[in-house]
Amino acid sequence: MKSYRKQLWFEVRTRRAFINITGQVQQCLRESGIQEGLALVNAMHITASVFINDDESGLHHDYDLWLEKLAPHEPVSAYRHNVGEDNADAHMKRQIMGREVVVAVTGGQLDFGTWEQIFYGEFDGRRRKRVLVKIIGE
Ligand code: ZN
Repeated sequence: MKSYRKQLWFEVRTRRAFINITGQVQQCLRESGIQEGLALVNAMHITASVFINDDESGLHHDYDLWLEKLAPHEPVSAYRHNVGEDNADAHMKRQIMGREVVVAVTGGQLDFGTWEQIFYGEFDGRRRKRVLVKIIGE
């Protein structure tokens, strides 16, 4: 069995953003040389997500409003976590959008359903953060 590991780095200038990372994961898969197996992609920070959905700007706007309703950033003082920091909402947004995805690898390709793309979800940006890509198979 082959094993491949790579870290992808992101530095988002805004507090929140959704970034399509499908191309970067496909590049990792090409580098791995793996034809059949599984690809794990996970955020390495507790205020960021990796998730799969549609690359549609209206949907991303809707996600942002929905997450702000569920866990508004302001007022910062509403959260007990925010003693000396201001990112309690980002922890909650990450929780609901998820830590990782696993995608089947078939014939050297990411074996997606219709319209599926992989996204990095940033909820407390303006600093360098990592995503882990681990691919196993043969
Ligand atoms: Zn925190």
